[in-house]
Parts: sequence; structure tokens; C-alpha cells
Amino acid sequence: MIDLAPLRGSKLAVLGLARSGLATTRALAAAGVDCVAWDDDAARRATAEAEGTRVAPLLSQDWSRLSCLVISPGIPTTLPKPHPVAAAARASGVPIVCDVELLAVACPRARYVAVTGTNGKSTTTALIGHILAAAGRRVEVGGNIGRGALDLAPLAEDGVYVLELSSYQLELLRSFHANVAIWLNLTPDHLDRHGDMAGYARAKFHVFDRQGPGDLAIVGVDDEPSRRAFDSLATKPGLRRIAIPTDLAFETGRLIEADGNVIDFSAAKALPGIHNAQNAAAAFAACHALGVSRETIRAAILSFPGLPHRQERVAEVAGTVFVNDSKATNADATARALSSYPTIYWIAGGQAKEGGVEPLAPLFGRIRHAFLVGEASELFAHQLEGRLPYTRCGDLERALDAANAMAARERVDGAVVLLSPACASWDQWKSYEHRGDAFRAMARALPGARPIGRAA
Ligand code: ADP
Repeated sequence: MIDLAPLRGSKLAVLGLARSGLATTRALAAAGVDCVAWDDDAARRATAEAEGTRVAPLLSQDWSRLSCLVISPGIPTTLPKPHPVAAAARASGVPIVCDVELLAVACPRARYVAVTGTNGKSTTTALIGHILAAAGRRVEVGGNIGRGALDLAPLAEDGVYVLELSSYQLELLRSFHANVAIWLNLTPDHLDRHGDMAGYARAKFHVFDRQGPGDLAIVGVDDEPSRRAFDSLATKPGLRRIAIPTDLAFETGRLIEADGNVIDFSAAKALPGIHNAQNAAAAFAACHALGVSRETIRAAILSFPGLPHRQERVAEVAGTVFVNDSKATNADATARALSSYPTIYWIAGGQAKEGGVEPLAPLFGRIRHAFLVGEASELFAHQLEGRLPYTRCGDLERALDAANAMAARERVDGAVVLLSPACASWDQWKSYEHRGDAFRAMARALPGARPIGRAA
């Protein structure tokens, strides 16, 4: 837990008592900092109260006595409509921040790597953490992934925080300064909160705030908004910039440095596909700038265990690998997975997103058979009709059995049974994690299955 003693003497309000909010109230209490907290959800308030946190409505507080409002990044402060407490804070001139800002205030001597982008944040953050740990560095990984910022261990000048930061968090920073800032890509997302693409890009651009001489900005420039962001960084004096792929190129399983030096990581099973090569390129550039040698980075990329639910290899049955890509809740993410394997028994469906599987048509040639589940079955069947053989399976268990039986019959070299639903999970599951955990357990329980991958 982060020691928030530097904040002693001030009084803070905390709004939102889920993972990061509770970590905040705990760290404030441990440091003896005065705080009052609230959540619109009664159960969350009860949890905080049971821990001894003072819970009270924030609107009726004397705002002139509050030094800041620590808000959970999921709560809107501007669009589509500011939460009334955020509006009150703004009207009283009280700064609105998130937990990452408190971390920066409490541990100013540590180094910070900040990772943002529309896609690939978690993978890149986890990979950088893995490489730095393998290089023997003191490293803490958190933010929007895993542990909340104030749950992490305190670090001094010999330590590095690797933080995944969402656009929501980036808008709530005032003094945080990334020694290495990574912007992976920018495609339309969260536009309700940011108004339009320009607003979304502005929010993400905060990752470079306060960067200057001695700092590094790494930008994936494959899309237009990201290219513009990279170009605008030219005005920051002394800031070193690396554009990917211009300064560091990537292909599936390979990075190519400007001088032609090649880093081959094609044996890294947890980083399939061209998108993961972009993530590996960003991680390589960040870790190399932090002084880790090429060879150490390459070895660590090869030993990276990957993240659960993102093209996670979970089991093997008679040569067929079962892959859990439950995090792929839209066609865009599923396209990444389908492009990564030559022969696929595809389990898809759930709660459909707009457009269904139509955008995946160019990849249908890789699919031997589609096994449809959940609410989206009718829509997907209609879209696949005459283009791809499919079976309506109803639920995941039947789909897995049917896919396994067909793969065993056909025995194609390099084939995978892939759960990449292109759908939300809410129709049959609590979350994409719940769905992916079930797939992993079922695949490992198949007759003759050999568990592979993490926690095997
Ligand atoms: P995030 O934390 O930004 O959601 P993840 O690392 O969890 O990103 O990856 C989520 C999904 O996004 C993956 O399953 C993959 O389909 C896709 N993805 C990962 N990296 C990239 C990338 N660099 N560019 C585009 N898509 C990516």
C-alpha cells in the first residue's frame, strides 16, 4: 500500500467505492489523512463503512474545507453529464483527481511508464512489467489493470511503476509525469464520454503532459489520429520520440530496429498476431530506454505468460490447441484472433454487437466450421448462410464438445478450437472473465486434454 503521509493535514472527499476507491480510502486511513467518502450504491457504502471509513453525502459537505475530490474514473465529470458531486467540486474550485495522481504525489522519486491507447493497453503494460521484473528491476504494475494505484508497493528512485491508464484516468491528473509515455493506437471508442474523436484524442494526449527533456514518448502511428498526436509532440522541447513502425518496425513475431537489427520472438506463444507485434515493439522501446539489454528483453518476451482471456492457450487435445479469447467482445477484436491461426474451429456468439460478424467475412476462409451460442445465434446463422458451415449449439458446453469432436475427426495440423465470441457475455454469463474461466475449465476437462499455459 502507498504511504499517503504527504497528504496529512488536508481533507479529501472520495467518490466511488469500488476497487480503486476502496484502495484510496484504505491508504488514506492508514496514513491518518482525514477523508469522507460516498458511492451511489448502498452495498458499496456498507463495505467501506464496515472498514471504518466515514461515509456521508458529499453534496452537503463544506467544500471550502476540502482539498480535492478523488473520483473513480468510471464516473463522468463532464460528458455525457457530470455527476452532481463533480459539478459541486468544480463550482467550488476543488480539484478533481484520480488515485494515480495521489500515487504521483506520494512517490515522486520513482520512475513512471504510462501506457494508453484504444487496444493493447493491458497486454503491453503486463509485458513491460514482466520484462523489467526479468531484468531484476523493482517494478510495480497496476492502474487500470490488476491492482489499483494505491494498492501498489511504495517505490523510490530505483523503482519503476508501469501503469495502464485509460482516457478517463488521464483527464484526472494534475502533476503526474510519465518518464516513458506510450500511446498505442486510437480508434473510435467511449465517444459518449468524450463527445467525439477529437475529444477522445485530447483526453489520451494528457499521457504526454509535463513530459520534457530526458523523457520518452512512444507512439504507434498506424492510424491518422495517432500520427497527428506524434507530430504535435515535436513542439515539446527535449522530448525524445519513437514512432512505431517508422523508427522501430514490426512483423508477426519480429521487430526490426532502424539499423536493420532483428529481434525474433516468433517462438513467443503468448503473443500471437501482428497486433501483439505492435505491443511487443512498444514494450521493447520502453524497456530498452530504461536500460534493459536487447537479449534480456528478447528472453523475457519469450517467457511472457500472456494475459487470461486474450488468445490464451488453455489446453491441447491430440494436437489441437484450445484458445480462450473471451475478451474479444466485438468483431474488431475477433478479427485479430481469426487472423492469427490458419485453421479454426470457431465458437462465437453471446449478446450481439452492431454489425454482427459481417466485418469478419474476409477471414472466413480460415474457419472450418462455426459453432454458434447464445442470443446472437440467429443473426450469425443468417450472416454465415451459404458462406461458412455452422451449427447452432445453444451453449458453450455443447459448442466445445461439437468443436472437439470435429477437430478430432479431421485432425488438421496446426488447428485450433477458438472461443472468440465477437459478442458481449451478458446473455449467459456474468462477465467475459466468467465465460473464459468456464471455457478453460471445460477444455481442460475434455478426455485426453493436456492443460497448457498459465495456471495449468
Ligand atoms: P486493452 O487493455 O486496451 O483493452 P488488451 O491488451 O486487453 O487491450 O487487448 C484487448 C484486445 O484488443 C485483444 O484481445 C486484441 O484483440 C486487441 N488488441 C491487442 N493489442 C492490440 C493492438 N496493438 N492493436 C489493435 N488491437 C489490439
